[in-house]
Amino acid sequence: MPPSFFDQGATIAVLTAQPLDKTLDYRAPEGGCFLGAFVEVPLGPRKVVGVVWGPGTGDWDRAKLRAVIRVLDAAPMRDELRSFLERAGDYTLTPLPAMLRLCTRAPGLGDPPSMRKVYRLGQGAADRMTDARTRVLAVLRDLGGLSLTLGELAEAAGVTTSVVKGLVKFGAVQEEESPRDTPFPVLDPAYGGKELTGDQAAGAERLREGLRMGGYGTVLLRGVTGSGKTEVYLEAVAECLAQGRQALVLLPEISLTAEFLTRVQARFGARPAEWHSGVTMTERRRVWKMVGEGKVQFVAGARSALFLPFRDLGLIVVDEEHDTSYKQEEGVLYNARDMAVLRASICGARVVLASATPSLESWANAETGKYERIELTSRFGAAVLPEMRAIDMRAEDLPGNKWVSPTLRRAIEVRLEQGEQSLLFLNRRGYAPVTICRACGFQIGCDHCDARMVEHRFLKRLVCHQCGESKPVPTKCPSCEAEDRLSAVGPGVERLGEEVTELFPQARVAVLSSDMYGSARAMKAEIEGIAEGSADIIIGTQLVAKGHNFPLLTLVGVIDADLGLQGSDLRAAERTFQLMRQVAGRAGRAEKPGIALMQTFQPEHPVIRAILGGDEERFWRAEAEERRAAGVPPYGRMAGIILSSTEVQEIFDLGNALARQDDALRKVGAQVFGPAPAPIARVRGRHRVRLLVKAPKGAPLQSALLAWTGQFRLRGQIRMAIDIDPQSFY
Ligand code: ADP
Ligand code: ZN
Repeated sequence: MPPSFFDQGATIAVLTAQPLDKTLDYRAPEGGCFLGAFVEVPLGPRKVVGVVWGPGTGDWDRAKLRAVIRVLDAAPMRDELRSFLERAGDYTLTPLPAMLRLCTRAPGLGDPPSMRKVYRLGQGAADRMTDARTRVLAVLRDLGGLSLTLGELAEAAGVTTSVVKGLVKFGAVQEEESPRDTPFPVLDPAYGGKELTGDQAAGAERLREGLRMGGYGTVLLRGVTGSGKTEVYLEAVAECLAQGRQALVLLPEISLTAEFLTRVQARFGARPAEWHSGVTMTERRRVWKMVGEGKVQFVAGARSALFLPFRDLGLIVVDEEHDTSYKQEEGVLYNARDMAVLRASICGARVVLASATPSLESWANAETGKYERIELTSRFGAAVLPEMRAIDMRAEDLPGNKWVSPTLRRAIEVRLEQGEQSLLFLNRRGYAPVTICRACGFQIGCDHCDARMVEHRFLKRLVCHQCGESKPVPTKCPSCEAEDRLSAVGPGVERLGEEVTELFPQARVAVLSSDMYGSARAMKAEIEGIAEGSADIIIGTQLVAKGHNFPLLTLVGVIDADLGLQGSDLRAAERTFQLMRQVAGRAGRAEKPGIALMQTFQPEHPVIRAILGGDEERFWRAEAEERRAAGVPPYGRMAGIILSSTEVQEIFDLGNALARQDDALRKVGAQVFGPAPAPIARVRGRHRVRLLVKAPKGAPLQSALLAWTGQFRLRGQIRMAIDIDPQSFY
């Protein structure tokens, strides 16, 4: 056990987020410092933020040791978070400084607490009262002594800020300074629970019991979309809050939080703190600090919220636990679902993994009893799972360059007549995935990647979905220079929108695609409008497959159910299954029964049949058998090694050398495959090759990988990334 306090002058090891491979020794500052304290230290000519990680290593000349500049005004990092960072770093083979960077992602941590102006009711009287002035004073009177910022006050009263400023002059409103990082409103666990149905109540009670028992434990909460999983896990949050501990709910998409926050408010009387890329810098800092001081009870956030310095984390909910966005694919390659379980096991928290279609990993853990399993079998209220049917595209009469089959069209017509909504799902952004020259056959590709450029008519540009590079749509073929012979091939949501508008000129059509909105806020507003009935036909990418509630929706048409089944990804079947179930779950969430129609060229495919048959257990069992036989996750372990460089030859050379010198892997029963060009063989001008390592389930994969890759030095332009449990096969 390292000491928990270091006296002034003691030698201490400080971890910084600088890319060094170890901690640095310093002398403890005047007044000493706690283990885990956030400190500012000199590093060369600079000052950087770090964390006191333990006693000094001693391999520095004591006389030359520099002193810590100051201890920052933040709660010291707790042992729990320090060991989480260490263990998560060991698991993902990430150096500690990079791990530390994940949990110091709040600006101005070293700044003194800053102040802001707030407004409250004053003693003075204005010379004359206008309607606007009366409203301002009424709002402040309602608050009973509380204060608001200028913007908040003006908005609440529906006046311009100058009205407030005018009242300040007369002293009718008082302006004062208050610290910016204010505590969050208190949530009341007993504020507004719904009456739960039989199996909801039973599930909630088991979750509450788990929290009362204390200590670590993971539950897989499974139930079809609309069965009330959110209602049930909010009861676990309530229990956690009642115990005075903190709760974290991870959500996959920021577009989900608006609806979610409103529900939390209805349940607890106030909103949770938010943590995601859309949160302002000052708000981030506030959340980060208040979480550490225990002045936030409940955080709702994206995967990075897992690295916040909670004071006493008692519950982590991972909603839509199967969602691929939990896997971070750049920088530190981690899966937030797995890391949530790791952190909870270290800090003694409960985990709830919620999904209608769990990942095979979680399903398997529930099968073996590692996770407890709670099932919600029916949908809430009158809502029933939509009927699902295939449209056999081989039998449909459809001209080229059209994608809505006559059968689907008739179903949409019926909805329009009844004033109900239809959703057409196509998981392809943009107008068309390929632009081809009719004269020479040339396909326009990205200059930096081996990917075709996708036409976005809305932006009037061709866009590379790999690197984001874009250029205007040319009028001449870049290869043969023929004029006006370029044509769009294949459907994207924008093009489908065009077709639907032609088919149903009287209908209101909305296209929902993440790239069509300037901001998450604009998208939220659009989605809320649609839920209230602002569109008759909704066209969307997988964005709409997630959690939104559309009460008027009774028809889902899946334009290309076969899309996800192509490709060599080991999770292709699982992904398709999950996506289709989720999409189908959009229909008939309220009182009206829904139907889902899937256009497919292979209605006999086992995945399509499992979706249609609704027999999930059978699908999981069949899929589990296949993976077990192949020795792949979750019945074996895998790692991806991606080598990239501007020079294609040098990465193949290194890849081949790695494949030859694989003793360290063979010792633990692991095998290496490759090198092969990565599925996207060039990204941002860098060539990429990939090796795959497969190991038996219990093998010490990480140490073997370190020993194996450690034989080689990375020369020149080469970069290597190791991806433990790779999700996407890019
Ligand atoms: P899931 O998270 O499984 O998709 P939700 O918790 O979002 O399901 O529930 C679906 C809808 O049904 C929501 O609008 C929710 O408020 C409502 N609902 C679920 N259970 C109840 C209940 N016991 N009482 C009232 N409304 C409920
Ligand atoms: Zn590109």
